Amino acid sequence: MLDKCVNGKYDILLAGNPNVGKSTVFNALTRSNRHTGNWSGKTVDAAQGSCRFNSCEFILTDIPGTYSQTAVSPDEEVAGKHILYDRGDCIVIVVDGTSLERNLNLVLRISESTNKAVLCVNMMDEARKKKIYIDTDELSLQLGMPVVPVSARSKKGLDELMQAVYDVVTGKRKCFTIKHRYDEDIEKAAQGIEAELNGRDDKRALSLMLLDRQERKSLSEHFGICSTDELKSAFENADALTERYNDISDRINECTVKECERIYKLCVSLGNENYRQNDRKIDKILTSGKTGIPIMLLLFMLIFYITMVGANYPSEWLKSLFDIIEVWLRELFVKYGADSFWTGLIIDGMYGTLASVISVMLPPMAIFFPLFTLLEDLGYLPRVAFNLDGFFCKAGTNGKQALTMMMGFGCNACGVTGCRIIGAERERKLAVLTNNFSPCNGRFPTMIALISTFIVGSVPQPFRSFCGAGILVGVIALSIILSLLVTKLFSVIMTKSNAESFILELPPYRKPQIVKTLVRSLFDKTAKVLARAVIVAIPAGALIWLLANISIGGSSLIESFTSVLEPFAGVIGLDGVILAAFILGFPANEIVFPIALMIYSSSGSMTDYESLSELHNILISNGWTIITAICALIFTVMHFPCSTTCITIYKETKNLKWTILSVIVPTLCGIICCMIVNLLGQIFA
Ligand code: GDP
Repeated sequence: MLDKCVNGKYDILLAGNPNVGKSTVFNALTRSNRHTGNWSGKTVDAAQGSCRFNSCEFILTDIPGTYSQTAVSPDEEVAGKHILYDRGDCIVIVVDGTSLERNLNLVLRISESTNKAVLCVNMMDEARKKKIYIDTDELSLQLGMPVVPVSARSKKGLDELMQAVYDVVTGKRKCFTIKHRYDEDIEKAAQGIEAELNGRDDKRALSLMLLDRQERKSLSEHFGICSTDELKSAFENADALTERYNDISDRINECTVKECERIYKLCVSLGNENYRQNDRKIDKILTSGKTGIPIMLLLFMLIFYITMVGANYPSEWLKSLFDIIEVWLRELFVKYGADSFWTGLIIDGMYGTLASVISVMLPPMAIFFPLFTLLEDLGYLPRVAFNLDGFFCKAGTNGKQALTMMMGFGCNACGVTGCRIIGAERERKLAVLTNNFSPCNGRFPTMIALISTFIVGSVPQPFRSFCGAGILVGVIALSIILSLLVTKLFSVIMTKSNAESFILELPPYRKPQIVKTLVRSLFDKTAKVLARAVIVAIPAGALIWLLANISIGGSSLIESFTSVLEPFAGVIGLDGVILAAFILGFPANEIVFPIALMIYSSSGSMTDYESLSELHNILISNGWTIITAICALIFTVMHFPCSTTCITIYKETKNLKWTILSVIVPTLCGIICCMIVNLLGQIFA
């Protein structure tokens, strides 16, 4: 018979507080590409990957970060369920070596319920730099489990980690459960409940959780734990005990905190007591009431400025390249005698839209994504959320909404999924409803193209890009203000749920890995968004070409469609073509502007354009004014979410009404704002 360790397969759970490097460990071991970033709350679902070690296969599950075993929010529910009921053959608890004291709380709680655990003390490179010395042997003695120092980012210590996991799962190394950390009466009460739970290997942990009112409540809510008689009686017993010892919940937590302090003091020595001082000094500037927001605005303006200045040249190069390919394609079609229908459908329709999607969208994305990712890795995003936290609280909601809004700037579907970090249902629904106010990456290039080619097109460089970046920041500020107003409005209408206490964790500033960030954001994010745009652009190009070339009653279908939209579009400062492009661009925001260009082109009024800056003339020749451009810009920020986001909203809320409301609210805001701008434009024109 084969020994299990020769060809065995083991399930390993990676657990820990948020932002301790779990996904980095997971990626390094499984060669995956899970999103990492220097802030709490980015991982909201579980992922699986596998790796081999000593001829065994290890299936690793990376779960969202959590501070406790019981759930406050849906992402913690995922984590809690795994930690309590789906630990697999071994649980690897990842902690941040630079914040050990805080992280130990969860470690102690988990260690009470399993004897198959390994502690991975990550970020050892950073700990060393900060002169934090950790006695891992002593820590191992105190916790009763193997402790392995790791620097996941530079892939150091991973073999040792896997060796420890291997030893635990194959029984070569035994963990042991450490008891007697609590006051005598708590221990007595816990043992009483434990006796009722005989046969469960998590009886100690469960009995302590049952003694904690909050944890007991969430256990019964989320896990339906009262299902068996023994558990029912354990629950009742715990209920009676908490009645008798009124303060038992608080004291359990106090004892855990004291125990963490004790272990920390015993195992950690600091070569520099003030290692957090630099971060604090920087935070005093970046998050202060006076300077925080102005610096934030300047920083975003700088990013947009670099994007705008940088995007124009590659856009021109790409356009020239696509023109050369187009000439070559046409010659090929002529050579093989293709008729005008197929030439038109494939070259003018599919290829033309594809070329314009890539040349308009790719350059700004390729510059904006890496810059944004650098900020994310630096640890700046939670500082932005911190600066906006007060505004969100005033709007009657949770400060975590600021974080989900930041995620929405990347992708609204991700932002909506990210709302799982919000525990209270009302607040979560509000965050979902307003997420689309954050313009996603698919919309940024359109906004940049509109601003730089039209709105500031006549301003000489270098002021043009500078003014453009300022306008973009202004538009985003407007979207945030509207998001806050809508949140306030709905928070007044909706019944208040139990307010969720919330700690916004400001992670240490980390030096981003510049090359890795560039590669990751280019190949991971940019390629993904572009691929989605391309997949949609090809059929959309074909459809629009067909609509433009099939005529009924003397006018093409696209002309009929745009002329039906024209009267309403006129009221909101747009024209029928751009409104049609917004509607036809429902599958992906990335294709809205290219579709508009395609329709102008197919209706014969647009010839060709050589670069982004020439788009100005094309739009002018199709009747655009500065008001049309401003309204198109506003409508880009405020209109219905794309199809993927709509599906995600429905999946997350399981509520059709809420999904429909999430479509109506931003669209209505966009219509109202555009109408106001149009009206003002007419008055002052
Ligand atoms: P998770 O939320 O626990 O999954 O954490 P992530 O894997 O997203 O990592 C959080 C941040 O810590 C990211 O910015 C990582 O690049 C960084 N990080 C992870 N591991 C290490 C490490 O070993 N050393 C250093 N210096 N940074 C790390």
